Amino acid sequence: MHRRAGTAKLGGVHTARSTPDVIVAGAGHNGLVAATLLADSGHRVLVLESAGHVGGAAVSARPFPGIDARISRYSYLVSLFPRALLRQLGVDIELRRRRISSYTPSGDAGVLICDDPARTRESIARTVGDDGASADALDRFGALTTGVAGRVFPTLTEPLRSRAQLCELVGDDAAWDALFEAPLSGVLETAFQSDLVRGIVATDALIGTFAGLDDPGFAQNRCFLYHVIGNGTGHWDIPVGGMGTLTGALADAARRAGAELRLNTPVTRIEAGDDRVAVHVDGGEVVEGGRLLANVAPAVLAELLGSPLPGDPPEGSQLKLNLLLRRLPRLRDPAVTPEEAFAGTFHVNEGYDQLQRAYRQAAAGQIPELPPCEAYCHTLTDPTILSPELRSTGVHTLTVFGLHMPARLFRADHDAARHAAVAATLASINAVLAEPIEDCLLVAPDGSPCLEAHTPVELEHELGMPGGHIFHRDLTWPFAEDEAEVGRWGVETPRPNVLICGAGARRGGAVSGIPGHNAARAVLAAAPAQK
Ligand SMILES: Cc1cc2nc3c(=O)[nH]c(=O)nc-3n(C[C@H](O)[C@H](O)[C@H](O)COP(=O)(O)OP(=O)(O)OC[C@H]3O[C@@H](n4cnc5c(N)ncnc54)[C@H](O)[C@@H]3O)c2cc1C
Repeated sequence: MHRRAGTAKLGGVHTARSTPDVIVAGAGHNGLVAATLLADSGHRVLVLESAGHVGGAAVSARPFPGIDARISRYSYLVSLFPRALLRQLGVDIELRRRRISSYTPSGDAGVLICDDPARTRESIARTVGDDGASADALDRFGALTTGVAGRVFPTLTEPLRSRAQLCELVGDDAAWDALFEAPLSGVLETAFQSDLVRGIVATDALIGTFAGLDDPGFAQNRCFLYHVIGNGTGHWDIPVGGMGTLTGALADAARRAGAELRLNTPVTRIEAGDDRVAVHVDGGEVVEGGRLLANVAPAVLAELLGSPLPGDPPEGSQLKLNLLLRRLPRLRDPAVTPEEAFAGTFHVNEGYDQLQRAYRQAAAGQIPELPPCEAYCHTLTDPTILSPELRSTGVHTLTVFGLHMPARLFRADHDAARHAAVAATLASINAVLAEPIEDCLLVAPDGSPCLEAHTPVELEHELGMPGGHIFHRDLTWPFAEDEAEVGRWGVETPRPNVLICGAGARRGGAVSGIPGHNAARAVLAAAPAQK
């Protein structure tokens, strides 16, 4: 790889040896992808990151004192990162397929969706009490989404098509109408008779997204779409070693390509002229460059530029819990082992009606009575994130992602709302287990239980994600929404030399590297490679 940029240390202040062509604000995974591609093409790239580490929401950490468990602290599964892009970046990380896709307890039974079709069908029929109709409906719906995925996913790293062009490419009017033209509730209520199975499918529409399934704004449809098209299959895989392994490898790739990464360097103001940017950082230094790529959220970028906020303020909608367990909890269902049930996504009180009720309660300003959430155990598929000692004693991680916990619930009295939300979520989990999850918690040497929680308000402070929105803003359609956007990359802003390279770009959101790639392609289109 090519090497251009470097640093000199002058009187304790780092300055780029030569003016960077591109300054990237933020070293989240997308900023690192953009930096690598541009540095590798011969651009001088400087990355300014406010935190003392890279990765943004894609990091690993040891949050429990005295416990050697390096957990994926925020994001934990990878679906949307194009495998070809990983290869192009020279990032060699194993993304391991989970044997179990999901388990959904219901009374003393449960639906297990796994790599054994016969067992999956039997489990659905037994739990739902039908003769295979629900399993058939799932197969049909899976075929519909896979068809769309195969057509749409490759376009995410290409210039934008118009709505009509993408529709033509999908080439399946029924699938297009179901996913793009009507609120998702329409197809879910037609395709599935079972409330439980409807709910299993519906959860993909509500990850980090505060919407009803029948919302005319379609935020749930867009969220659903990105959850089922990753790499043309919609599989969600485990990054072996945890998320920090992925972003550590991306940072190595960026440095190898010649990008300069400066940590502990918050950007405080951006001045954008026609062909230059001046970036002010904490401490008073001003760095000049040719272009700015914003890995920060669009709302943060607006603040840094002194521009009006683009649209409504973003609002995240999830409660995130990380737990370490001495052992996995016992289930009420004798047909499935805890090792199977927690290896995939463990759906908790995510029936269709339960999801809609929780949405209505949260929209009315209440913590949902029975919070819908999903849990998953990383260490059943990849134990390498635990020390050998923890592994040998049977310790497991559990990550819980709670739905319909919008930031607004936590604004007035944060600590009280946080306490209530955590208690309600644990009670919701306990309602489907044979024993309380608290009885299985590992206790750290200092006597504290190994459980941490992050509300949207805390995510806002910890990660700089406005409103705690995990995608920086509501996800956008993967096509141009006006004619002027056709053929562009979905990363442009009203200022020609300021581009968005993070989750807030069109086709951004999640751990995908796609907006980082697309911003780099937009720069290269305007200022071709210098190699
Ligand atoms: C709890 C949680 C669970 C999630 N689960 C998943 C999952 O399992 N799978 C998945 O695909 N996605 C998941 N996501 C979403 C995904 O993690 C994000 O959408 C994605 O990481 C965004 O990446 P990014 O690089 O665009 O931005 P970010 O990761 O937000 O990085 C932005 C960077 O900019 C830095 N920054 C902010 N302000 C400044 C400033 N003023 N100056 C300099 N630097 C600044 C930040 O410190 C950060 O490093 C989850 C997110 C959260 C929070």
